[in-house]
Amino acid sequence: MTAYPELEAAKAAWRHQPPPQCLSGKAILITGAGDGMGRALAKTAALHGANLILLGRTRAKLEAVFDWISEHTRTRPVIVPCDLSHLGPSSAESLQSQARAEYGRLDGLVHNASVLGPKIPLAHYPMSEWEEVVRVNLSAAATLTQALLPLMLETAATHAKQGSILFTSSSVGRKGRAYWGAYAASKFAVEGLMQVLADECAAEGALRVNSLNPGGIRTAMRRQAYPAENPADAPPPEARLDLYIHLLSDAAEGVNGQALDARTWPGVS
Ligand code: NAP
Repeated sequence: MTAYPELEAAKAAWRHQPPPQCLSGKAILITGAGDGMGRALAKTAALHGANLILLGRTRAKLEAVFDWISEHTRTRPVIVPCDLSHLGPSSAESLQSQARAEYGRLDGLVHNASVLGPKIPLAHYPMSEWEEVVRVNLSAAATLTQALLPLMLETAATHAKQGSILFTSSSVGRKGRAYWGAYAASKFAVEGLMQVLADECAAEGALRVNSLNPGGIRTAMRRQAYPAENPADAPPPEARLDLYIHLLSDAAEGVNGQALDARTWPGVS
């Protein structure tokens, strides 16, 4: 019996089969690593050799991922309980110090944590909830990126390898849809942030910056967005991980400024 049957089942159908240790020695920070897509990515990236900084809101969830990774891989994770709705420049800066102290490097940054917010007409959307969705989905990603950029650039220079920054998008971040309010608007803005940063990084080439839409996957957010749907109709997160692992690995060197879709990759999205 394999330790991670959902991954084994999904991996057989992956369009791209990354080499087993393609993330070996890399240090990668994943936000929202305690649940859903972030948890699946954390376990899978560790199985591919990455040392992970697991950032999330709920300590117990992060500890469970930490325990699994420690038991099933040879990598060395650390956990960082952090509510991104309160992330300011100084706490983001201390995250950089922590990454430096733990690993002395940072090769990858995955902005995965998000909140859905209410699915209601704009006319009735409470602005306090709007602001929270934008803080978590957009502003925290910008603040974290800004604080971690120096360490990522240093890492790229020292190891002569491009670093990778991944923003998580959504179908409604590429085409607006009624009642998706702040979530859709924040995901459109995330695409804009990705394009700005990718363009800033293009000339030097030390970092690649891309966005990725995982498509509908069986997680708590999906259940919240589609309460009437049979959860079994959506694939598990592991089914969409091949693109994530590829973009974090050296095989994706030079892929920059792309808005990718895990369902259609490597075809045209
Ligand atoms: P999920 O199951 O709801 O997990 C979201 C994660 O983000 C959780 O670990 C959560 O932590 C964390 N998080 C939320 N608010 C946070 C905060 N304020 N501070 C720190 N961490 C916070 O969502 P998912 O479905 O895995 O979604 C992952 C990404 O894929 C998101 O960016 C989402 O927009 C995108 N996406 C998902 C789907 C889908 O069908 N599921 C489709 C398209 C795009 P706690 O568990 O501790 O609260």
